[in-house]
Amino acid sequence: MEDYKQLPINFRRLNDGKTVISNLANIFHVLPNQKCLEDIFLHKTCSDKELLEVLEHKLFISSTDDFESKVQLTTSAFSKGINKDLRSPKLIMVVPTLRCDHHCSYCQVSRVNADQEGFDLSKSHIPSLIKFIQEIEKPPYKIEFQGGEPLLAFSFIQEFYNQLLMAIGAKNFSLVIASSLSLISEPIITWCKGKNISFSTSIDVGKRAHNKHRKLNTKDSFETVLANIQRISNKLGKDKIGTVTTVTNDGLSDHNELVDTHIALGLRGLFVRPVSSYGFAIKKQAKDLSIEEFMQFYKKLIHRILRENLSGHTIIEHFLLIHYKRIMNAAGGTYVDLMSPAGYSKNSVLIDYNGNIFGSDEARMVYRKYGADELIIGNIKSRKYDLKLSEHLLQHSFNDDIPACSDCVYQNSCGSDPIYHLQEFGEPIGDKSLSRFCELHKSIFDFIFELIQSTEHKRILDRWLND
Ligand code: SF4
Repeated sequence: MEDYKQLPINFRRLNDGKTVISNLANIFHVLPNQKCLEDIFLHKTCSDKELLEVLEHKLFISSTDDFESKVQLTTSAFSKGINKDLRSPKLIMVVPTLRCDHHCSYCQVSRVNADQEGFDLSKSHIPSLIKFIQEIEKPPYKIEFQGGEPLLAFSFIQEFYNQLLMAIGAKNFSLVIASSLSLISEPIITWCKGKNISFSTSIDVGKRAHNKHRKLNTKDSFETVLANIQRISNKLGKDKIGTVTTVTNDGLSDHNELVDTHIALGLRGLFVRPVSSYGFAIKKQAKDLSIEEFMQFYKKLIHRILRENLSGHTIIEHFLLIHYKRIMNAAGGTYVDLMSPAGYSKNSVLIDYNGNIFGSDEARMVYRKYGADELIIGNIKSRKYDLKLSEHLLQHSFNDDIPACSDCVYQNSCGSDPIYHLQEFGEPIGDKSLSRFCELHKSIFDFIFELIQSTEHKRILDRWLND
């Protein structure tokens, strides 16, 4: 094709000189260098017919005759992408108690002691909680119990389960209990058996880092969590337990220990992310770990995991997989941090121990630290909620029209986090050149393009998509 017109593109040079291009349809292509980009889009001197055909097929260029229809195809793919994020389901989080038996150094919500009174959601509010859930979302509901330590309020969880079961039936909801597992017991496990209930727990990078940051006064918290993961796996099944790893500047050289621990437990998946910079964690840890340091650790970790997969042992790192799904427009690529408009209040909602409703877990963390009352959307006790602030924040969360994101190559795979930027910059958009959120996700996307230059690695990531 000699005479062609160009459709809108964004581009970015990777560390190795290759240049990634993308379009509104969230389709990507990697060009060998920036000169090639200029030859195609600036000077129109590229004579590589095969490449031009690929670019035409991927909606980067078009013949003059087809131009209008290609523009329409691109814009309709763009609106389909937004629609997908708009329609994806809401995660409903409930904090039955703020009490906790751990003293974690990076606790984001400033937990209270396990015996303190006045920090629990009363069982008498369960009917209005269920009504609220039914008003804001369609079944099947995905409900997650957060803390504090939810197992300190296990009787609340049981009562909630029973009332919800009576109201809508078992097929219409699933529960996840996010717990350190230190309080798991035989009666709790027995009660959960055969129910649509699973657990999510934390394993940090190596025993040393875990015990340093997740302090338990009475036990070794690392040994305790490993033993209890094993109990849940054995009695409820491996699919009933998932882990999340928080990376701090302790354990940065212990990536192998983290993988070995998961393999020894027979777990097939990890979810690894840097310590969050929300709420009370901002001062305690996040400032000590740069995204650059995290990425150095993360790359070593992923290469170890890829080696495991190459030797026939399937083990998946889900943080990477979510980013890959976004790039590939794959099914299941909905993740509240990677949505435009943002997932805040649209795809997540949190009901706190005192009935306050927030648009995300991060919003309650920022509220707890700064007392920003305007982040409270409503309260289930009064059964009143007002989505005006959410609408204002969501209006400022479309990546295609906010500074830096509007011309970023990852614009339609990435997301927007108005609460993080509100905390850091005092307004929901923020300065992306200084944003930890932007640096993290851009680094992960860059890393994926680095990885998939290798056919072997691409094959593994493609396999994960269907796992
Ligand atoms: S946040 Fe950063 S990486 Fe994400 S779209 Fe915006 S500029 Fe790109």
